[in-house]
Amino acid sequence: MKRRDFVKLSALGSAAVLAKSCSTSSDKKQVSILETSKKIKVVSTWISGIDANKEAIRILSSNGSAITAVEKGLNVIESDPNNTSVGLGGMPDASGVVTLDASIMDDQYNCGSVTYLQNIEHPISVARKVMEETPHVMLSGKGAYDFAIEQGFTHKNLLTESSLQKWQEWKKDNSFNLPHINHENHDTIAMIAMDANGKMAAGCTTSGWAFKKHGRVGDSPIIGAGIYVDPEIGGACATGLGESIIKICGSHAVVEFMRSGLTPEEACREAVERIKKTTENYDDLQVGFLAMNITGEVGIHSMYSGFECALQDENRSELIKSGYEFEWE
Ligand code: ASP
Repeated sequence: MKRRDFVKLSALGSAAVLAKSCSTSSDKKQVSILETSKKIKVVSTWISGIDANKEAIRILSSNGSAITAVEKGLNVIESDPNNTSVGLGGMPDASGVVTLDASIMDDQYNCGSVTYLQNIEHPISVARKVMEETPHVMLSGKGAYDFAIEQGFTHKNLLTESSLQKWQEWKKDNSFNLPHINHENHDTIAMIAMDANGKMAAGCTTSGWAFKKHGRVGDSPIIGAGIYVDPEIGGACATGLGESIIKICGSHAVVEFMRSGLTPEEACREAVERIKKTTENYDDLQVGFLAMNITGEVGIHSMYSGFECALQDENRSELIKSGYEFEWE
């Protein structure tokens, strides 16, 4: 199917048909229980989310859990050598090394993450192992790699010929400018899923900002920044300039805005507003938030145009354009 077949120009219009909003927290619980069996749903950042969602929905349709749907859905993109922001084929850092960040969280506050992980194709699966097989939340660098090998993951060179060439091109430019974070060079994938029991999970996996300083870690593996899930409220995830997202604990902020009564879309917008308020110069600073509440209502918002999310349930797959504050020039 062509990209334009998916595109829905109005984020508001699309989000509005997804589910009804609710007013009090006890209402929310009730609605969640009433709607659980018919509401499997998955939503992911960017156009690459379409393929990830297909796998996630396949799992949810056969009664799989939200956490497995998130892991296996994200695995699809981690293995895609043409996605230059995730897993295999991800852009290296300034020193030419591919370092990966990922995190996963269910709706019982169980979570796991890996940062600065090298030579492992599926960081999201390692993050899940951290969550399930260790008493820790986060493993980093060599420790994360050793743990992955111990758990049966295999060593793999993730730097493709094409990513290597792009890095070599970039190195020729003495200014060493970092590329803008937009949909062309940043397809970090984050996903929120709801299973047939109404349980939610979220995950995020990335090679981070292309040509970042060696050792840099973004928001994606930080619980509360890159992703967050609250059993009474819903989940949120983020993409874009990780440094700005970390500073406001972005995904946690979105969930808390929903707790205060905002719809997912309003909550995402409020988080973007907070970044505007707390950042002196937000020229070219792209951030995007995506949220789903426990009734299954979805919303997105970004600082600049160009952000989008892929939404799939049992009946449809669509790409939803985000509302935004500014047009890219
Ligand atoms: N948030 C990611 C990071 O800063 C990048 C992205 O989402 O595009 O590493």
